[in-house]
Amino acid sequence: MGLTDITARVAKAEAAAGRAPGSVQLIAVSKVQPDARVEAVLDQGHRLFGENKVQEAAGKWPDFQQRFPGAQVHLIGPLQTNKARQAMTLFSAIQTLDRPKLASTLARLAQELGHCPQIFVQVNTGEEPQKAGILPAETDAFIAEARALDLPVTGLMCIPPVDEAPGPHFAHLARLAERNGLADLSMGMSADFEEAITHGATHIRVGSAIFGERDYG
Ligand SMILES: *Cc1c(COP(=O)(O)O)cnc(C)c1O
Repeated sequence: MGLTDITARVAKAEAAAGRAPGSVQLIAVSKVQPDARVEAVLDQGHRLFGENKVQEAAGKWPDFQQRFPGAQVHLIGPLQTNKARQAMTLFSAIQTLDRPKLASTLARLAQELGHCPQIFVQVNTGEEPQKAGILPAETDAFIAEARALDLPVTGLMCIPPVDEAPGPHFAHLARLAERNGLADLSMGMSADFEEAITHGATHIRVGSAIFGERDYG
């Protein structure tokens, strides 16, 4: 547990998979964690974080970014269109593009603001009705649509079903990215990031294994 341990495990998994050292970016998922824990990880020199709510990220990251230059945050939770404008400046990447309406909103804002975060398309690999994400069968067409809007789509993201082995979902996401010429794959969390690295993850999202359990109380 902790940043040092997870960083070592990432390096080991990269080597075991025959991947170049540093080819996997570790996103420290800081949602719900007390500021003191987040600050401790910033103090250790880590600069890449993930948050799943715009409001929560807006409440802490502008201050952290002032004090820790270079700190970047990826949005890894659902984005409502009425928070899209705020998200465009808060985050260096939006990993959860999951519907046409959001694509057109982000594209319009990108034109207006003259910049756009890196974009990942979220794919619902488990085809779970309650889960966000583009269905696998619709992914190629959706990526083409997003590209036609000039959105900087660089990768795909997935959250496999909790009750299934994640490996086949990681492999599926990797195939979808490959055939669409996308280099980035955001997959793998505390329980399964090593397996995700084996399947080609370029971005892993690890929360509790770095910071400790989240206390929602
Ligand atoms: C919370 C969260 C994570 C991190 O989960 P852990 O099991 O704590 O590593 C990863 N991805 C997403 C989308 C999340 O919401």
